[in-house]
Amino acid sequence: MKTPLHGSAAKPRRARLMSKEQAARFVAALAQANPAPETELAYQDAFQLLVAVVLSAQTTDAMVNRVTPALFAAAPTPAAMAALGAEGVGAHIRRIGLWQAKARNVAALAALLVARHGGEVPRTREELEALPGVGRKTANVVLNVMFGESTMAVDTHIFRLGNRTGLAPGKTPREVEVALVKRCPPELLRDAHHWLILHGRYVCKARLPECWRCVAREACNYRDKVEGPAVAVAVAVSARPG
Ligand code: SF4
Repeated sequence: MKTPLHGSAAKPRRARLMSKEQAARFVAALAQANPAPETELAYQDAFQLLVAVVLSAQTTDAMVNRVTPALFAAAPTPAAMAALGAEGVGAHIRRIGLWQAKARNVAALAALLVARHGGEVPRTREELEALPGVGRKTANVVLNVMFGESTMAVDTHIFRLGNRTGLAPGKTPREVEVALVKRCPPELLRDAHHWLILHGRYVCKARLPECWRCVAREACNYRDKVEGPAVAVAVAVSARPG
């Protein structure tokens, strides 16, 4: 079979929907390869995690981890962060994308945590999503990582993976989230968020999935699997412009 030009004009073919049993095998294979998955964001408590996730929108976790140590040293609590204000927060996060809006949101959400929640991070979706800069995805990460809920935060990696593999197809992140919650084995659901993000980030990559080293390959319905590093190099070269 001819390998398609991933990342070029050639469009990958749509994957068949996995059966429920297949979906369970797919997630179980990721689980077996990484039994204790964790977020790659650095944090010490719920407040720091909340801030780190807000900062991570359209930026890599690695980049967020470069700016948060100094930010959290300057303002370790919501009260201190509110006192630092948008300008003070901005001075620490200028290296990440959308830093001005994020600085305003972080200062405002810290002030609201103090005013409404006694300086604590609230434990309900409604209260979290009422904070500036906090949407469904951020609330899902905090509820999952800090409060042990089996939520599924769909980022760009999980959205791509759900569609590409046939695990949980959907036109919007919300559709993919609903499908994943329905199709992941309940006992694996809480950690599935981490497994899928890490798998999308390091193996089932956006431009070229590294199917030859994928532990979940046997259960995957992607129809244009990439067979090996040599093929990947050839595909990358042929996809170069001009
Ligand atoms: S890396 Fe390849 S085989 Fe593995 S999940 Fe992604 S598309 Fe499927």
